[in-house]
Amino acid sequence: MTETTVNKFATRCVHAGELPDVNGSPHTPIYNTTTFAFPSTAAILDVVEGRAEGSLYTRYGLNPTIKALEAKLASIEGAEAALAFASGMAAEAALFLTHGRDGIVCIGDAYGGTLELIGQQLPLLGIPTHLLLGTELDRLDDLLAGGARLVFFETPSNPTLELFDIAGIAQQAHAHGALLVVDNTFASPVNQQPLALGADLVVHSATKYLGGHSDITAGALMGSKELLDAVRPWRKNLGQTPAPETAALLARSLRTLIVRVRQQNASALAIARAMEAHQKITRVLYPGLESFPGHALAKQQMADFGGMLTIEIDGGGDAAAAAVDRLKLFAIAPSLGGVESLATQPVTTTHHGLSPEERSRRGITDGMVRLSVGLEDPQDLIKDLEQALQ
Ligand code: PLP
Repeated sequence: MTETTVNKFATRCVHAGELPDVNGSPHTPIYNTTTFAFPSTAAILDVVEGRAEGSLYTRYGLNPTIKALEAKLASIEGAEAALAFASGMAAEAALFLTHGRDGIVCIGDAYGGTLELIGQQLPLLGIPTHLLLGTELDRLDDLLAGGARLVFFETPSNPTLELFDIAGIAQQAHAHGALLVVDNTFASPVNQQPLALGADLVVHSATKYLGGHSDITAGALMGSKELLDAVRPWRKNLGQTPAPETAALLARSLRTLIVRVRQQNASALAIARAMEAHQKITRVLYPGLESFPGHALAKQQMADFGGMLTIEIDGGGDAAAAAVDRLKLFAIAPSLGGVESLATQPVTTTHHGLSPEERSRRGITDGMVRLSVGLEDPQDLIKDLEQALQ
């Protein structure tokens, strides 16, 4: 049995991957170095030719701080292996260039950068890509039969929190010899474990919940060693490895992941219930609400429902902008997953680049405000929203 399976999740967040230190530090030291010295030519060749594990060159990821982080990342997603990246987009780009060259199907809404990479940039390299709405899943079999070999989605997705059936779509992809990759950024591994449900790979913007403090940009890819070994040379030669300081900060954050996310889950549910009862709110999209269309699936595949919710304000875009501008505790910012609460109108940020017709096709309205719930007292956050809605 590996460390991955022996201990429970909270214990793994703290202890997995930590290197013993001669001075007694309980945390892996930061090896802030680009290269590593060897006692002999034979020893360096052993590492270069793969006969021995060892530190060699930081851009290759062969740095103890980065490798320790990767062991922790693998452990918290229940994966055989993990690769750390300089950003979530770096992880996605390396993933698609390695495993998506025969064709990619992206299901549902996704982060704007992901949609741009899959929809506009990868086709420039001759990679066939397809963007399916959640309502167009009946086309998936045909696209897979036509040669697409990688299925990708976020669940919950941005900004409507739409959910997709990980186990069901994994089976469908596998029947055609394709891989299923889940972007688990919104849920975090505390709330959802896609690999255990049948996904082949998990990708994260570690900039969000994994980092958790809005102070690092990083990414992660978790899955089997075989699938990740194929990604490794792309990361190496595209220069996408994180700096050792970033790796150490991310490992620091992972040690507190479970307590942060549990609090964010509880606060988001309290806020969702308060907003559902508010007369100026026409809709609350939160997987933990009984009124949410994907609630049954959420209960089936998620342990808890996350810290992200979207509210729709009566009166449309102008009313939503006015309410957002009156917020005092929530900052007006497009990111998510940090200790501080953030509010953003998707039409002004994450989905600004889409035409009004495309937004309406995707069910994104001008009155929507996406909330990322932080670690402030939930009653203070509710009061802030109430005063903003007055
Ligand atoms: N995936 C999701 C769900 C995101 O929200 C983002 C960024 O907002 C990304 C991927 C890209 O991550 P990064 O900004 O770390 O490159």
